[in-house]
Amino acid sequence: MAENERLMDIFGIDVFNETVMAERLPKKTFVALKKTIDNGEELDPMVAEVVANAMKDWAIEKGATHFTHWFQPMTGVTAEKHDSFISPAPAGKIIMEFSGKELIKGEPDASSFPSGGLRATFEARGYTAWDCTSPAFLKEDAAGVTLCIPTAFCSYTGEALDKKTPLLRSMEALSKQAVRVLHLFGDTDVTNVSCSVGPEQEYFLVDKEKYLKREDLIFTGRTLFGAMPPKGQEMDDHYFGSIKERVAAFMKELNTELWKLGVLAKTQHNEVAPAQHELAPIYATANIATDHNQLVMECMKKVANRQGLACLLHEKPFAGVNGSGKHDNWSMVTDTGKNLLNPGKVPHENTKFLFFLAAVIKAVDEHAELLRLSASNPGNDHRLGANEAPPAIISMFLGEQLEDILEQLISNGTAATSKQGGKLLTGVHSIPYIKKDATDRNRTSPFAFTGNKFEFRMVGSSMSIAGPNTVLNTIVADALREMADELEKAKDFDKAVIKLIKKTVTEHKRIVFNGNGYSDEWLAEAEKRGLPNVKSMVEAIPYLVREDSVEMFERQGVYTRTELESRAEINYEIYSKAINIEAKTMIEMASKLYIPAVIKYTKSLADSILAVKGAVSGADVSVQEELLTKTSVLLAQSQKALSDLKEKVVTAAVKEEGAVRANYFHEEVFTAMARLREPIDALEMIVDKSVWPVPTYGDLLFEV
Ligand code: ADP
Ligand code: MG
Repeated sequence: MAENERLMDIFGIDVFNETVMAERLPKKTFVALKKTIDNGEELDPMVAEVVANAMKDWAIEKGATHFTHWFQPMTGVTAEKHDSFISPAPAGKIIMEFSGKELIKGEPDASSFPSGGLRATFEARGYTAWDCTSPAFLKEDAAGVTLCIPTAFCSYTGEALDKKTPLLRSMEALSKQAVRVLHLFGDTDVTNVSCSVGPEQEYFLVDKEKYLKREDLIFTGRTLFGAMPPKGQEMDDHYFGSIKERVAAFMKELNTELWKLGVLAKTQHNEVAPAQHELAPIYATANIATDHNQLVMECMKKVANRQGLACLLHEKPFAGVNGSGKHDNWSMVTDTGKNLLNPGKVPHENTKFLFFLAAVIKAVDEHAELLRLSASNPGNDHRLGANEAPPAIISMFLGEQLEDILEQLISNGTAATSKQGGKLLTGVHSIPYIKKDATDRNRTSPFAFTGNKFEFRMVGSSMSIAGPNTVLNTIVADALREMADELEKAKDFDKAVIKLIKKTVTEHKRIVFNGNGYSDEWLAEAEKRGLPNVKSMVEAIPYLVREDSVEMFERQGVYTRTELESRAEINYEIYSKAINIEAKTMIEMASKLYIPAVIKYTKSLADSILAVKGAVSGADVSVQEELLTKTSVLLAQSQKALSDLKEKVVTAAVKEEGAVRANYFHEEVFTAMARLREPIDALEMIVDKSVWPVPTYGDLLFEV
């Protein structure tokens, strides 16, 4: 069969999607379920019973033996516990069963998932609850075929123990406020506004054999040692370069897996760093996009493994070349199919668009620290604010056209024109006429308007996109609320709305920056504007529980104070644990691999000096001697740095849990790690390759 025909056939075959539901459910049940999915209406248990049965029949026909409530605890990855469909029947037989209750509710033990104190205060009991807005799917692996039911995960008292529940709450909050605004604009046919999300996923592929020889990659996902090879990314020859055969085979298999799961895998290309690639799907509703992105990450690892490769999703697997991010493309769409961030041809006349744009500007300016935190994890500390894209300071790129309109609004109170893109002049007549966009791109902005959506570029490659989108939805919902409050009081709507847009952009224009986000001038300028420059994850965590953040999240019904406090705790814990594992891995590698190898090397140098001298009296052994001296100095430095790191790790363990310990890890342990890396990387440049105990950067980055 031709590949394209196959694609049409396989797309979504492992998903219990709307088509399957329409086919297999009684009409009444289907209609009732659709009402819950589309409008959030409460689900009748009788409906669940019928759905469960149809779902089971479908899954069993496709070879499933088990089902699982698939959920997203605060580890940032997914969790599942499999139950088989079997139930005893008379005469030693079994039947396959799956009830509505089993579909709706699961009860995994919550005590082994991070809960940041929620567990201590409340019960260990946790429940998973069916999220029917994201379709169930089948997962096929060595365990067989399993029916996966996307669920939310909550404690006995209803606190969210996961990333999905707050995301769903934030989607409701955003919808409520956006609908309110749209009704004021006269769009009374709109009943729901959803947020659309398209996450671009960056990743590295390395050879599995080599990967398995690097404990740092295995335990921490990144290299903790490694000197730069003679060639890095300076030639820019990898970006969009032709795709190597082995990588192409990986991409092909990955696409097939994803298409079967209904993931709209669309774009694939080589990224800037050697061995780095990207996959972008077509956007979907935030909730589904989040589930799909988890599946993308999972499939990448699985398929790589099958193909003798290892997929690295860490934000900074290699020092000295670009790290990986996840550009979170985000917009708002009405249930009547209108993208609220689409400016149209003449944006200055599009008051509704300008209103929503102003709300996003206000939200991002007022809660920049929360957005920064939502993109923080230990790995992303190596990117944000560490000489790499994007900078840690949040600013927004709007482009020439929109900035011009806002300028007009600010200075004249109205906007009269929209700059247009014009024709693209290539100087070649045979090239067809191309219309230019009104605005060029800006690659350095952490939050860029890209035509009909915003692209939040800070998110780390390994992170769940639930967190960033929860924050984004909530802060925009809250900005819309405040603006709608004001509009509702207005006597003359048309006048009031323009006035409010003008006021909002005037108050928040400091966040708009169209220049080079990497430059030193911007750093100084941002400081002058009073924009926060939150340099690390540990520095970002306290903003989550700042009084105004708590009030906003509670007002929008997204997080309670308790839930926020628990998340702050979890963040500290995650940071401390990650650095602790990295430090211990470095200690292990330095003491058991690098230092012994270097000692052997020094011995061979010493032996050579003696042997040469013995063979020819007065022979010149200055090369060996110089090497031996250099190596010995670096070896001594390594040993000293190693002892120091060991001591710091011991001290860290007795620090008070939470902020104190995390800060110690950040300030003391992390810097001690850098001091150990330095002499060992220097040794790698000197020591004979044949005695070097692990594959080098050159081996990992260029030999796939
Ligand atoms: P770029 O190189 O411009 O970043 P890509 O094609 O790599 O472009 O990725 C753009 C992403 O944005 C895709 O996932 C795409 O589906 C998504 N996207 C496009 N329109 C919207 C929208 N209205 N809302 C959310 N995401 C969108
Ligand atoms: Mg992009």
